[in-house]
Amino acid sequence: MTTRTTTCAYCGVGCGVQAVFGGDRLEIKGDPEHPANAGRLCSKGLALGDTLDSESRLKAPIVDGSEVPWPTAVEAVASRLKATIDEFGPDAVAFYVSGQLLTEDYYVANKLMKGFIGSGNIDTNSRLCMSSAVAGHKRAFGADIVPGDYTDFDEADLVVLTGSNLAWCHPVLFQRLKAAKEKRGTKIVVIDPRRTETCDIADLHIPIMPGGDTLLFGGLLAHLDATGAAPTAYSDNHVDGYVEAIEAAKADLEKLTVAAQERGIKEEINAFFDLFAKTEKVVTLYSMGVNQAKDGTDRVNAIVNCHLATDRIGRPGMGPFSMTGQPNAMGGREVGGLANMLAAHMDFTPEATDRVARFWDAPNMATKPGRRAVDMFDAIHDGRIKAVWIMATNPAVSMPNAGKVRKALSRCPTVIVSDCVAGTDTQKYAHIRLPAQGWSEKDGTVTNSDRTISRQRGFSAPVGEARADWQIMTAVAQAMGWGEAFPYTHPVQIFREHAALTAFENGGSRPLDLGAFADINSVDYETLAPTKWPFPKGAEAPQKRLFADGIFPTPNRKARMIAVRHQQPVKKGADGTLLLNTGRYRDQWHTMTRTGLAHKLTGHRAEPLLDIHPRDAARLAIADKAFVSVRNDRGSATVRARITTDQAPGEVFLPMHWNDQCAADARTGSLIAPIVDPHSAQPAFKATPVRVQAL
Ligand code: SF4
Repeated sequence: MTTRTTTCAYCGVGCGVQAVFGGDRLEIKGDPEHPANAGRLCSKGLALGDTLDSESRLKAPIVDGSEVPWPTAVEAVASRLKATIDEFGPDAVAFYVSGQLLTEDYYVANKLMKGFIGSGNIDTNSRLCMSSAVAGHKRAFGADIVPGDYTDFDEADLVVLTGSNLAWCHPVLFQRLKAAKEKRGTKIVVIDPRRTETCDIADLHIPIMPGGDTLLFGGLLAHLDATGAAPTAYSDNHVDGYVEAIEAAKADLEKLTVAAQERGIKEEINAFFDLFAKTEKVVTLYSMGVNQAKDGTDRVNAIVNCHLATDRIGRPGMGPFSMTGQPNAMGGREVGGLANMLAAHMDFTPEATDRVARFWDAPNMATKPGRRAVDMFDAIHDGRIKAVWIMATNPAVSMPNAGKVRKALSRCPTVIVSDCVAGTDTQKYAHIRLPAQGWSEKDGTVTNSDRTISRQRGFSAPVGEARADWQIMTAVAQAMGWGEAFPYTHPVQIFREHAALTAFENGGSRPLDLGAFADINSVDYETLAPTKWPFPKGAEAPQKRLFADGIFPTPNRKARMIAVRHQQPVKKGADGTLLLNTGRYRDQWHTMTRTGLAHKLTGHRAEPLLDIHPRDAARLAIADKAFVSVRNDRGSATVRARITTDQAPGEVFLPMHWNDQCAADARTGSLIAPIVDPHSAQPAFKATPVRVQAL
């Protein structure tokens, strides 16, 4: 038997995995040496081996319905992109990529689009999960940085979980937190409109109303200020905006009082405020419930404000902690996978654009941000984008207003899809389909939520003619005439170039510095142990935490507290509607194109269920397990109801996963309004008015 060490393909915990194989046998185990999981895996990770079914795979390139050899497919992609650029300009072309790509894939995609095609039009499905955290980090710290480390969860005395069902969405981190609580009595506060399994380990559950995070953390900030828990010496020396942030928080206090009374949570809120004020070692973890909102960035800053005001950042056991959804959302952020970022965490400033253009020797450097996900599909719908290349994601199911996304793709003159599985909903609209390597075949790196970079290592031969995404893009770039800049034959060359770009003309001004790896050879890359950034050339070790010194990467080196005010998401029940919240089930991933293949993962929840409070169910004459119709102006879903007091009256919940192959009419994305946060352009998935009817 042979053991190959790699990483899990799913969530942002980024667990290390051991694949033990020989003959027909394959065993998947947790890697005991990996700092993210120390040998633990959740049900999805343990079932990775059951998703390697070759029957489901896209095995050969297909152009206009016919299987073709790779050179023909590459030529078709290159010539159609080129023809579009020649006739309509570079902004008529777009890439929509994925946090499932490896950093090396992402790097090549970003370089090809922003340096050579000459447009900023590359965005990622990570826009849907953590772009509000990115925008909030940049406003507060001056750069997109998660300052902490997973060991902070072992060392904290209080962990606040807001907008996160950690037990289902990041199970191994939940297990770690549970173990810490058992060992040292860590207090845990869960802030969530729903009662979820995460509440099983909570000392306090605050069922805040949907969209109440800014109000709650504003109230906390005012309390910290009033009780003297915010040390003025720290904020005077290291933070701008304290006074304005406190004034904004105080202006919303009356609203918080009213909301607390309406929701019956006054005592819980007071207990939370006291606990936070009294406890020095506090970690506040936030995730999609915070990010996926029309004011997601403000919510992030409301949380970060409380840590900045109290100097609870950058030291063991304390800090705000953004939990990402996907395995490599962070790696994508690092190379420029978001349309508003250039590369290596640089913005589209004239200096940075010039720097990256010189580094790449780019002939057609993009000089402005491109279109972000919702805007990108609107532009496809309206004919402003005429060629789109979608990689490793299924926007026909996952995007808000998914019905319009399907219409957009059906109208688009050139749709190219690279994926490892065949027959996804998005591929129905593709003119060109390209077989990409799957999890067990790919080699490269990923970055998890605490900045740990890990190697993903292939251990099985590619199915059919599948190629690595970076190989596919490299071949297309060469066919478009840019072979000199895209000479890659191995992912180490790409990782080296990415590392060198982070260090290029850096001089310590940019925290994302991987200069230590700018000359890495293929042997060291192959054996690379989990590491972190920053790791500049000459440093002895990577930096575990940032900002302990009170120095931030802003022009004046101070952090910024942001004055934020509460925004009511949508008034529920005004016209008989219920407010739809969406999220994950424990054992499924994204649109189920892979986890849907593992039979043991369907045992937990075999079908999508609409969670509804007994009072609403009685009013609407809905019986438990009966079919209901969930609809609004944009779309509909037909699912069974689950009557539960976990759900507050007036609010319902649907999982996000089911695609057309798994259920006839249960696409949650088709119901979601394309409302986005003005700073991050992240869609609001958590508060959509719907009508529910018994069938
Ligand atoms: Fe994979 Fe996340 Fe589960 Fe870890 S917690 S095994 S990374 S899905």
